[in-house]
Amino acid sequence: MTETYVCPVCGSTTERDFRVPSVVRTCENGCGFVHFLREDLLELTERVPEAERPDDWDELSGEERLRVAVGRGDVTLEDIRG
Ligand SMILES: [Zn+2]
Repeated sequence: MTETYVCPVCGSTTERDFRVPSVVRTCENGCGFVHFLREDLLELTERVPEAERPDDWDELSGEERLRVAVGRGDVTLEDIRG
């Protein structure tokens, strides 16, 4: 099984044959040493209703959005582990 992980800064992706919440690696686009988040976790952040997103939602990284979603209870730790 292959999982896709997404750079929180530029959105470039990398694939791994294991499933974890995030992979820490150096982005080849010069974003530095960052947490690549699993793609389906990023999709979970869409659960936060648009009207209730922070004003700076568009500027947040995937990791920060996920933190907001978990803090609100829209995404649970089970979702992340699953
Ligand atoms: Zn990047």
